Amino acid sequence: MKIREIKAYPTSFPVPPGGVRLGIGQSVKRDCVMVKVTTEDGIIGWGESHHGRAHTAIAKLIETTLSQLILGMDAADTTGVWAKIYKYQLGSHGMGAACAMAMSGIDMALWDIKGKAVGWPLYRLLGGSRRPVAAYAGGVALGYQPPAQLIDEAQPLIAAGYRAVKLRIGDTVRDDTARMEAVRNAFGDGLTILTDANTGYSIGDVRQVMPAMDALDIGWLEEPFPAHDHHLYAQARGYGRTPLAAGENHFTRFEFSRVLEDRVITIWQPDLSKCGGITETLRIAAMASACKIPVNPHSSMTGVNQAASIHLLAAIENAGYFEADVSHNNLFRDQLGSEPWRIGGDGHVLPLEAPGIGVEVDEGFLLAHPAIEGPGYV
Ligand SMILES: [Mg+2]
Repeated sequence: MKIREIKAYPTSFPVPPGGVRLGIGQSVKRDCVMVKVTTEDGIIGWGESHHGRAHTAIAKLIETTLSQLILGMDAADTTGVWAKIYKYQLGSHGMGAACAMAMSGIDMALWDIKGKAVGWPLYRLLGGSRRPVAAYAGGVALGYQPPAQLIDEAQPLIAAGYRAVKLRIGDTVRDDTARMEAVRNAFGDGLTILTDANTGYSIGDVRQVMPAMDALDIGWLEEPFPAHDHHLYAQARGYGRTPLAAGENHFTRFEFSRVLEDRVITIWQPDLSKCGGITETLRIAAMASACKIPVNPHSSMTGVNQAASIHLLAAIENAGYFEADVSHNNLFRDQLGSEPWRIGGDGHVLPLEAPGIGVEVDEGFLLAHPAIEGPGYV
């Protein structure tokens, strides 16, 4: 079970013209970093490191510095591997987002290996059961199109079983409000409407939009501001009763400890491929559980991270929603490996049953889709 080799694949595919527009710009390509860990006895585990808009750099960090630190360690010792990277890399130079993302994919691959070694699916290894997990329709979808088109996009999702959808806002307050109203009017009070500004709002925008969100019973307002704008979140909290959500850009339990102390962000969204892996998300979920805060993992980009997120949700007691990536033509969900999840007619998903994370990764896909340099949103 000793770690013999760590390989990282920075991978990309172009998005056809007319890609989704949201608070961080227009999508022009998709990137990811897949991490392959092989043990001396030949078990292969796969994990995802979020690309961090620097997928080739993240892959390099994994294959050079981090790999050299942990080769030869016991693959089952996820706590020890985490602690070693923390001691020699993450802790000493401030909380580096790149290192947190790089180590996340390694940690995820090690949990995949552990499951395969004992023949158990990950949810079982984490202390969970094959319980249904409520999903919302999210991912790079439901963007800044006119209200009528937005309803056309949401209609088949609701027909497929989703009882919650996430709209992209952070455009103008007027257009955002028109989109939220249109969806509420089209589908009624039974639908849970969540929103994500992708850091596109000013404090004045939130002051303006909050009364409409309260009136429309919006489930949460996600990332109105960048993660480090603690004072803006605190100010925004006073403008209404719609809960504030964030976490996909908070790294490790050390950044979530500030969130816990502030008592302002009450919906937590750690990303297993960013915040320090499955090991660290379990710690963050435990911190949140002390205050009965639900955990709703952010789950882009690949089916591997999505499947791992469902396992985790089936194993923690403060599970919120699974973010079902309903974006069109996400090859990282549909072609990179075997099917990661399927929405049930009642809006729920189930964790996979195969040992480990349960997604069979196609290395040929990774080789056929090498990294494309440049920004993913313009
Ligand atoms: Mg988001």
